[in-house]
Amino acid sequence: MSEEKESLSEDVKKDDDYEKVCSICHRPESKTGKMIELMDHITVCPDCLQKSFHTMTSMDAESLKKLMELSKQFPNMQMIQLRDLPPEVPMRQRVKKKKPEKEPQKKFDIRSIPAPHKIKASLDDYVIGQEYAKKVISVGVYNHYKRVATDTMDEIEIEKSNMLMIGPTGCGKTYLVKTLAKLLDVPLAIADATSLTEAGYIGDDIESVVSKLLAAAGNDVEKAERGIIFIDEIDKLAKKRNANQRDVSGESVQQGMLKLLEGSEVEVPVGANSKNAMVPLETVNTRNILFICGGAFPGLEDIIKERLNKQASIGFRSDLKDKYDSDPDILAHVTVEDIRKFGMIPEFIGRLPIIFTLQGLTKEMLVKILKEPKNAILKQYQKLLALDEVQLEFEESALEAIASRALEKKTGARALRAIIEEIMLDIMYEIPKDENIGKVTITREYIEHTGGPQITLRGDLVVYG
Ligand code: ADP
Repeated sequence: MSEEKESLSEDVKKDDDYEKVCSICHRPESKTGKMIELMDHITVCPDCLQKSFHTMTSMDAESLKKLMELSKQFPNMQMIQLRDLPPEVPMRQRVKKKKPEKEPQKKFDIRSIPAPHKIKASLDDYVIGQEYAKKVISVGVYNHYKRVATDTMDEIEIEKSNMLMIGPTGCGKTYLVKTLAKLLDVPLAIADATSLTEAGYIGDDIESVVSKLLAAAGNDVEKAERGIIFIDEIDKLAKKRNANQRDVSGESVQQGMLKLLEGSEVEVPVGANSKNAMVPLETVNTRNILFICGGAFPGLEDIIKERLNKQASIGFRSDLKDKYDSDPDILAHVTVEDIRKFGMIPEFIGRLPIIFTLQGLTKEMLVKILKEPKNAILKQYQKLLALDEVQLEFEESALEAIASRALEKKTGARALRAIIEEIMLDIMYEIPKDENIGKVTITREYIEHTGGPQITLRGDLVVYG
């Protein structure tokens, strides 16, 4: 008897050396986690148990009844009662959702605002010419953000440096502001003054510019409050002369913008253009938002000329009456008085203390715009063709011909892209056809439609297209 007992305890010992194995998936306990013992020597892993529950709970009542009937025919089969399960078995596996990682908030740090000369140097990489404008805007922006950062409004209050840019169309006004916002990593909203109307009339109301900025800042109010709003075509808000109707899109918009320019709290809809009951509102303070207005101000030159000629022809310092008639840089002489005469109201001009002008682009500047900026249009095409291992070159005289054609269109640098795209269409279509082509040189003749481009085959053989 004692021998029998000894052999039994031996068996138990041996049993301890073995792992329990799931009767369904046959994986050992070390892989599956703690096994659940259903009846003698039948163990099931939590995964398989879970799966069986799932199958049963998704069965309709009819199938479940059938299964119960079936189980009665097999004495070894037993239906599991949910309430009999040990509490450690998870009824429903719930995986905690990962919270989206919060981006570390970039604190606007004054030390990270580069000095004016550095801002200008970065602008130089993209904007050709406009030296004066780049200098003024760099200093203005630097002062603005210094004011924002110190935020000490003691008795020496630093005035807000909103700006007014005057320059012909396509000379780089929008481009300058866009480049600046990108360099400084601040949100930028670009609005068109022509679409603005007094609140309550058809069109966008004035505060919509702030909601655009909020959207550009990813609905982050704090970020938006340090952004830039660029309002283009501001000259279209000039007072209409001899208007006897209510002017809802001109002078009243100027009036409506006064508070915004100066700094006020506005309630703007989040994620929509207009306020209505369905959209949440956010309060944005415009005190630290930099407003830059831009416009071509057609006719302003005549106002300046008239004033200058009048001044020149009277008194001891009388000069030639038409001295300024042929001055190409006449806009640079602009005064607040000229802008008022143009039709902007004094309160509005007063809130844009920094006024500067941009020059119309010359042929030389247009040639530079084609090839020099970091993302110059020629560089873009060269990169595209380089992907096909084809070199693209432009003869200097060809660039001049393109610039001359652009000048004729009188839309500044905007015309360049259209011309280049037209020229390059055939090249981009034909070149990939022939794998032997190694280089294409655009000639003046090709631009002037009197010849073709110069094609060089990979073996250095020159062919004229
Ligand atoms: P506007 O003065 O009418 O606002 P834009 O700034 O929109 O003109 O200029 C149109 C395009 O012409 C810009 O996107 C830019 O590519 C090019 N451009 C204009 N002026 C310059 C410049 N001075 N340097 C480089 N590119 C320029």
